[in-house]
Amino acid sequence: MLKGQTALVTGSTSGIGLGIARGLAEAGADVMLNGFGDAAEISRLCADLAQRCGVRVLHSGADMSRADQVTAMVREAEERFGRLDMLVNNAGIQFVAPVEEFPDAKWDQILAINLTANFHAIKAALPGMKARNQGRIVNIASAHGLVASPFKSAYVAAKHGVLGLTKTVALEVAEMRITCNAICPGYVKTPLVEGQIADQAKVHKLSREQVIRDVILASQPSKRFADVEELAALVVFLCSPAAASITGIALPVDGGWTAR
Ligand code: NAD
Repeated sequence: MLKGQTALVTGSTSGIGLGIARGLAEAGADVMLNGFGDAAEISRLCADLAQRCGVRVLHSGADMSRADQVTAMVREAEERFGRLDMLVNNAGIQFVAPVEEFPDAKWDQILAINLTANFHAIKAALPGMKARNQGRIVNIASAHGLVASPFKSAYVAAKHGVLGLTKTVALEVAEMRITCNAICPGYVKTPLVEGQIADQAKVHKLSREQVIRDVILASQPSKRFADVEELAALVVFLCSPAAASITGIALPVDGGWTAR
């Protein structure tokens, strides 16, 4: 469906981003991965995906907390692929603390990676997309872009900001066959959430199973984690011709969390 097209997925050496990169490659797109991890493992990941899907798979180790590296990564994708058709802003981190104890450095880091990196990547990718009158931007926000939870001030603020950025960009490029949308997942079982389960178990002195049932999935009426494959399929759809008129939306994938 996306054969001959090119994509950049930030934060895609793990979790949701990796699932999205796999989904786009399986749909036929050349993909640049981004994110941290063991260099040999990342090389193997790229080679396996390239071979299995018959596409080009590259990796950029750019740090999304650094504006200059975000811009350079987009330029590298454009140069090595010849152009960039799809940008998926997915990289994100979490930190949990009451607002009066929230470390300033953590606030700055979360805003930089979860929100400001999206701005810099979009800013760098748009001129090429506008020149070709074609492009797809998907921002992975969160149910926390629509509603709040205590102790997640920086994350909730950043994700609400992502939705504002998404709508603004969508309006600015609406006539140019470029769409910009946000996906708002509830809980998805990834290393990011595994970390939260372990933290909560320690804080509340509960078992892992109790934390999953009574803390993590308490707000998710479906009582199940979404799969990364569900999010990948949605990104592929939003990048397809069938989604040409869908722009500026914040689409929850949260098992009913934000329907309350
Ligand atoms: P994850 O921890 O599994 O993966 C995060 C990825 O981002 C990794 O590839 C990591 O290397 C990369 N990364 C982290 N800091 C980076 C930096 N400074 N520069 C470049 N790459 C960096 O996380 P995940 O659960 O897959 O989350 C992905 C996105 O989905 C995040 O934006 C997160 O907020 C969002 N999200 C996750 C959930 C969930 O339940 N897992 C729910 C809602 C939203």
